Amino acid sequence: MYDVLIIGCGVVGAAAAYALSRYDLRVAVIEKENDVAMGASRANSAIIHAGFDPEEGTLDALLNVRGCAMAEELCRRLDVPYKKNGSLVISFSPEEDAAIDRLYARGVANGVPGLRVVGYDELHEMEPNLTPDARKALYAPSAGIVSPWDYALAMAEVAVRNGTGLFLETEVTGAKKSEEGWIIRTNRGDLEARYVVNCAGVHSGEVHDMACPHTFDIIPCKGQYFLLDKSEGAKFTHTLFQCPSKVGKGVLVSPTVHGNLIVGPDAVNVPDPDDTSTTAQQLAFIKRAAAKTTSAVDYRAQIRNFAGVRANNSAGGFIISFGEKGWLDAAGIKSPGLTAAPAIGEYLAELLEKDGLALNPRAGFVDGRKVVRFKELSSEEKNSLIARDPRYGRVICRCETVTEGEIVASTRTEIPARTVDGVKRRTNAGMGRCQGGFCGPRVVEILARESGVEMKDVLKDKTGSYILSEKL
Ligand SMILES: Cc1cc2nc3c(=O)[nH]c(=O)nc-3n(C[C@H](O)[C@H](O)[C@H](O)COP(=O)(O)OP(=O)(O)OC[C@H]3O[C@@H](n4cnc5c(N)ncnc54)[C@H](O)[C@@H]3O)c2cc1C
Repeated sequence: MYDVLIIGCGVVGAAAAYALSRYDLRVAVIEKENDVAMGASRANSAIIHAGFDPEEGTLDALLNVRGCAMAEELCRRLDVPYKKNGSLVISFSPEEDAAIDRLYARGVANGVPGLRVVGYDELHEMEPNLTPDARKALYAPSAGIVSPWDYALAMAEVAVRNGTGLFLETEVTGAKKSEEGWIIRTNRGDLEARYVVNCAGVHSGEVHDMACPHTFDIIPCKGQYFLLDKSEGAKFTHTLFQCPSKVGKGVLVSPTVHGNLIVGPDAVNVPDPDDTSTTAQQLAFIKRAAAKTTSAVDYRAQIRNFAGVRANNSAGGFIISFGEKGWLDAAGIKSPGLTAAPAIGEYLAELLEKDGLALNPRAGFVDGRKVVRFKELSSEEKNSLIARDPRYGRVICRCETVTEGEIVASTRTEIPARTVDGVKRRTNAGMGRCQGGFCGPRVVEILARESGVEMKDVLKDKTGSYILSEKL
């Protein structure tokens, strides 16, 4: 019998697990995929939003601003790549000038620190590669960029280290009230808990309906992207937004925390919540839309396209409330859910406490995380690491300078990498210009050796994604 079962290990489920792992509770997370952060949390714009977008007075606004304020210290503690690069919402017409002023007023009302409107000269000094049509902008110095999958992974790892259970490849298929709480049905058998927290992302509507009356619909909304080489990332400093419209925050141009450039997303409602395909037509639309912001991007330097699906919903904002006794939804967590996640985690713990769950501090709770990133070390540190373990002297990914030592280490953490993309998310191997063309086979070799499986059984990504063989 668990005190709390969390359904879904995206950034919200991970943040809930992290927040609850500080307390003397029996908690487990149930995740249908073979790794954490396999949904929207790995395919988004990776922006820590300042908090001027959500309507003032809403829970979304509160959790956005709080999450943004938490990000810097949390990322330092958990050793997650993060940079406070600031964002600019740019106007291109007199009507948009007025929209910028409205956003400024809303941001001030939401408590966003340091906001100011910058005029033409300052704007073009801050970002020399803007088109001359860029008139003025709302500057938010508290906005940042983060490694989104590592944010989720780090919180989940600390939770697991402190006793949280993690059931991967375990899909919740039903829920039934029990005397003391809930029986959760999965493809691997039943689990029982006093409380259930539904963090199932774009599937949170279906999961809610397994236990509670139907009260909201999830409206899956796909966003596609260009990811470009570091040559393009170096052309910009801030996250560059256009003025938001009814369909969302619009197409942005932003450096990533890894030094690349991201351009996107569009916003198209899709019937299939798991549809992460990209299309030439929508990518062409994104290119045209981004051309309003800048003509300096060389799209020949694109290294990947990808898409993520937002959990937009009929209720409008985040749905964070009890759907039934003992059943807490953190459903429809659309943008800015990545930003808000750590604040959502704490808020969920508060709601559970108010409902009667005793939050007694866990004795021996160990917070924090440290990851060895070879290329960030000084020469002395590199030499002493190689002297201790020669595997740090063998570079496997040449684009990103990732060593065998780091890849092996990624297979030995609290939530070990088991797939080629799992290694990529943990070490950056395969994230560079060649996208794993050179290091991919070596990573397969190392994974097979470290996990004690045959090379033909190593997966690229999700369950069933064999690289060297087709399972018959
Ligand atoms: C295109 C796009 C751009 C975005 N940009 C930003 C941004 O720049 N900044 C920002 O703050 N936010 C952004 N967001 C929003 C942010 O990505 C999401 O709010 C956040 O990732 C949601 O996290 P989650 O944990 O709720 O969902 P997810 O990450 O989708 O996690 C849900 C998990 O539940 C699991 N699951 C589902 N059903 C079941 C089941 N039946 N049994 C077990 N497990 C199950 C899934 O496998 C998944 O791992 C963006 C989103 C998108 C799609």
